[in-house]
Amino acid sequence: MTVRGWCPGALRPMASGDGLVLRIRPHAGRLTAGAVRALADLAQDHGNGLIDLGSRAHLQLRGLTEAALPAAHAVLEGLGLLDPDPEAEARRNILTTPVWTGDETPRLVAALEAALADAPPLPAKFGFAVDTGAAAVLGGASADIRIERAERSLILRADGMAMGVPVTVEDAPHRAVELARWFAAHRGAARRMAGLRPPMEASVPPLTGAPLQPGPGPLGFCVGLPFGRITAALLRDLTGTPVRLTPWRSLLLEGVSNITPREGLITDPADPLLRISACTGTPGCLSASVETRALARELAGRLPEGATLHISGCAKGCAHPAPADLTLTGREGRYDLVIRGKPGDTPILGGLTRRDILRPRFLRDPLAP
Ligand code: SF4
Repeated sequence: MTVRGWCPGALRPMASGDGLVLRIRPHAGRLTAGAVRALADLAQDHGNGLIDLGSRAHLQLRGLTEAALPAAHAVLEGLGLLDPDPEAEARRNILTTPVWTGDETPRLVAALEAALADAPPLPAKFGFAVDTGAAAVLGGASADIRIERAERSLILRADGMAMGVPVTVEDAPHRAVELARWFAAHRGAARRMAGLRPPMEASVPPLTGAPLQPGPGPLGFCVGLPFGRITAALLRDLTGTPVRLTPWRSLLLEGVSNITPREGLITDPADPLLRISACTGTPGCLSASVETRALARELAGRLPEGATLHISGCAKGCAHPAPADLTLTGREGRYDLVIRGKPGDTPILGGLTRRDILRPRFLRDPLAP
């Protein structure tokens, strides 16, 4: 049953340092209040009570055992969150804007899910974005084929191209699958769309908007989750309304105008933790050689204004594949520092201890003695 890899699903759990990781992809990125409670109970009863929200707006329940899988699958089946087989689950890699109104976006996602039954085999991380709120907000999130809002219509856009082609709600799902077929036929060794140039008469730019920030808004209250993690108990406390998952490590609590600030939630858009990415690190990830998140919390108050920091347990960089102003990467139990780059780039300093990094001015002037 267990398959190791970098794209775990509910039917293909991944072994990690703290047990199995079960990835769940809610339809259209939304869960009813009852589903949120059921998933929180599942994480508490059969996992280790920790839930991660990923950058493709999926949930990961951690710390499950093989013996718990049948019960977990039964819960997911009851919630309509279990695909018929691992291949269908892998294909249903759709990121949905959390700021939709009306029913156009959920209908589009449902039609795209159905159309994907005819999609060719695609690389593991290849995915779709349905970005059809009042403006397209997912441009910074990972996706290969995008259905987006433009000024006068919807458009279909291949990632990496500035423009898209006009589509309708009715034909967008099939046109998206056609584009996936073109990719499969022409990709060669490429695993992502960016860099390829499909033959499209693309001339319409998306109408772009800003990602959602923590705080109140017209659709509800957005709460940030430090490093994308929440405990089952805290998640259960938040419920009472439907929840939309965002790719920005936050949850949109539909219709909620205010919440009481508490440990484990970010409600202030100026909180420096929002500018820090940190993966699971030790002991939760088998590939990690250093601790990440406790260090990130200690460094948060010292992070220079506006700067971004990424702490990665190894060179894979799961939490933030893009460059950051400062990146600390674990290697053989110590940290390497990269300036304006990614884990695995050439470090400016290597072999750093926690003590080195916690020097008062380290983040401002790492080369100072
Ligand atoms: S980047 Fe972090 S979470 Fe990803 S494999 Fe490395 S240590 Fe594990």
